[in-house]
Amino acid sequence: MCAKDIMAPAAEVSEAFFAELVMRHSSDGVIICAPDCSVVWVNPGFGLQTGHAPEDILGRMCPDVLRAADSDPETTRKIETALSERREIRIDTAIQGKSGALLWVDLRVTPVFDVTGRHTYFIAIMRDITERKLLEGQNEEMRHAEALRQSERQLLALTSEWLYSAKSFAELLMVIKRAMHTLIPEADGALYIYDTPRSMLGLVTSWGTAPNFAQHILPDDCWALRRGRAYSYGLKPIEFACDHVDNPDTPYFCLPIIAHGETIGLMHIVFDGFEEGGVMRHMRAETLRNRWDISLICAEQISLAVANVRLRQELQEQSVRDPLTGLHNRRWFSEHAAREIMLAEREGKPLALIALDIDHFKQFNDRFGHDVGDLVLKDVAAALTRSISNAAHVCRLGGEEFVVLCRDQTEQQALEQAENLRLAVAESTPVLKGQTLPPVTISAGIGVLGRDGRALEDILKAADLALYRAKAEGRNRVVLHPSPGAATAPALP
Ligand code: GH3
Ligand code: MG
Ligand code: MG
Repeated sequence: MCAKDIMAPAAEVSEAFFAELVMRHSSDGVIICAPDCSVVWVNPGFGLQTGHAPEDILGRMCPDVLRAADSDPETTRKIETALSERREIRIDTAIQGKSGALLWVDLRVTPVFDVTGRHTYFIAIMRDITERKLLEGQNEEMRHAEALRQSERQLLALTSEWLYSAKSFAELLMVIKRAMHTLIPEADGALYIYDTPRSMLGLVTSWGTAPNFAQHILPDDCWALRRGRAYSYGLKPIEFACDHVDNPDTPYFCLPIIAHGETIGLMHIVFDGFEEGGVMRHMRAETLRNRWDISLICAEQISLAVANVRLRQELQEQSVRDPLTGLHNRRWFSEHAAREIMLAEREGKPLALIALDIDHFKQFNDRFGHDVGDLVLKDVAAALTRSISNAAHVCRLGGEEFVVLCRDQTEQQALEQAENLRLAVAESTPVLKGQTLPPVTISAGIGVLGRDGRALEDILKAADLALYRAKAEGRNRVVLHPSPGAATAPALP
């Protein structure tokens, strides 16, 4: 604003003078167009905003000069409708400056009519809001990024909840597969677990669109396993691909899975859609870094979940195993026998139980001590395990009493089975520090589904009664039937 303008005495100036002052000094751009939109006048503010000199636009159709090439069609339609209906419109729109650069303006177009009501002009006033729009755009991006992070956090929390609810390794693999595919949808992945002995890792599950992973990995072929920490390939200027990787142009991560301080496996995540020149290239580094962070958290969660499942399984296994012989115990037998009886009944298949007891076992304890008694128990358990058929399963019920669950076996097959076991025990003479112990023998009795009842207790009771008969008849023998009419165990000699 020049000093001369405001020095003019108030009494001498007209309203037109003030209007002229405002027009000239306004930072808003002002355009006056004829009803057909050809430009008849622009203020200096317009030139400052757009970079156009008046002669660039005077006489030309306003939209031809200012409309951005990729302007929003909906905004254009709204403006055109308002103009054709000679209505005022106020709208945010992008226009193109002289340099071709886009600028955002708050545009207000007002039709002007003369005293007769004839439409004479349009006045367009444009306020530059480019900075505000940029900030709005950045805020929108930040909100979007925050929303993404939020949903990732929620997904991770959900994943860890599921991982911790997994009761078995199979269940855990199912959760891992689903969760990893959801959390990192653009990647394929695989989980490897060390075989025993720990010479290589075997593929246990994989996920993704077209996963084609090696069935086995050698520990030396993987940088993550060699260096004992997670390895990312595709993020740094100097790096080397692992030997187990097929395509060294594809970014990938290798993340060790560690349970109770021991590396037990490897999660391998491959970004197949990220090849050089692919559509994702421009966002590759940023996305990879984000996925790296998620993968690290996932590997940690999976590690804890694997340790958790292992512990659970160990405890479960301990609760159903006899620590001395390694055989399943009474608890396991009760659960499984009841289930097998139900299945056999449903499918109309035979089933039998063999009750076994070591003959004169007490003498080993009495003559050689409890430890030798334990050794005899282990030897008998080993002989039984070695000689048993696939359809049968031996358990230690307690003391020197065993039971064999014979699935799919008739009375006769169970008899043969029991006879084999008796011979196997009789033939294996236990040896202690070079000293041969007295021969060990067992007696056996058989109970049969149907013949002896349908409930586990009835069949087991029949087998026990037959066993007592075997004892009574001289031991080291198998008896197929309990004594006719016998309801209680006869007194043993
Ligand atoms: P029978 O031929 O009539 O079966 O005679 P037995 O001596 O085998 O039977 P009895 O029931 O009289 O003795 C079983 C013994 O087994 C008594 C008990 O102290 C012993 N025993 C039970 N559990 C164990 C164990 O875990 N280890 C050892 N060493 N002995 C055990
Ligand atoms: Mg005994
Ligand atoms: Mg006994």
